[in-house]
Amino acid sequence: VKEQGKNNFQFYTPDMNEAVSQKMKLEMGLRKGLERGEFKVYYQPQIDVISGKVIGVEALIRWQHPEWGNISPDEFIPLAEETGLIIPIGEWVLYEACHQNKIWQNTGYPPLRIAVNISSRQFQQNNLVEMVSKTLKETELDPQYLELELTESIIQDSKYAITTMQKLKAMGIHLSIDDFGTGYSSLSYLKLFPIDSLKIDRSFTSNIFADSKDAALVHTIIAMAHNLDLKVIAEGVETQEQLHFLRQRQCNEAQGYFFSRPVSGEELSIFLKNRL
Ligand code: C2E
Ligand code: CA
Ligand code: CA
Ligand code: CA
Repeated sequence: VKEQGKNNFQFYTPDMNEAVSQKMKLEMGLRKGLERGEFKVYYQPQIDVISGKVIGVEALIRWQHPEWGNISPDEFIPLAEETGLIIPIGEWVLYEACHQNKIWQNTGYPPLRIAVNISSRQFQQNNLVEMVSKTLKETELDPQYLELELTESIIQDSKYAITTMQKLKAMGIHLSIDDFGTGYSSLSYLKLFPIDSLKIDRSFTSNIFADSKDAALVHTIIAMAHNLDLKVIAEGVETQEQLHFLRQRQCNEAQGYFFSRPVSGEELSIFLKNRL
């Protein structure tokens, strides 16, 4: 804007215009992308730190637009949340992931747990429990092989969150707290929420050897989780040294590029075959 006078009168600039139309374009793209089947689910293995066995897999969405190419979920998931499109997208991811997990089981691999990310908007949707239950029935997946990854942001409405989590737990589903330690929330929710595990955020894992405070935090999170009878998984494990550090401190599971990047379902089948 030209006039930046005393009132700072600046609610419309060519830049904002640009940003708004970019956003609208992306939103349209998301809608079309769903219709045209441009989304895929990739899978990243989760490894038992002691046995080295694959015990779970995290489902991560991928979007390949015909003209724009690959768009990172960090770019489109926040917009999908804002527009509500995360509801149909999230439902689709859950179905795909459960279905794929059932295929792996039918192929004869030792049963794995599939971890699916649930955004807080999805979690707050009042038919979430029914939707999850319906998806498990349709895909014939035993609920014990599904894990939902929730973030600390769901705590906003803790009464509702607890009730919903209890219903999911009663079905036999595992619950974990994703990006643990990054959400500025108090720890008291840990005693209220019926959760099974904590996921140590990549920002801590990747700094273990760069910053002794991160190392201390990782160590402390693991100890605290165990004292509360929770399992711990570290994400973003990229090196043998990080894995060693985690193993020494009794972290239960690890996930990261050191084992595998997120890959397509077919590629993960090959990974599983090679590790049997
Ligand atoms: P997240 O749930 O914390 O997922 C972990 C992210 O770290 C993934 O990025 C994964 O590819 C990446 N990652 C895994 N191991 C390593 C590693 O060793 N090093 C590094 N540098 N990165 C690693 P991605 O797939 O781009 O997803 C980004 C975020 O988007 C996710 O973070 C999650 O919050 C969100 N997201 C992805 N898929 C879904 C989905 O289906 N539903 C929802 N609601 N959110 C999703
Ligand atoms: Ca996650
Ligand atoms: Ca995470
Ligand atoms: Ca994250």
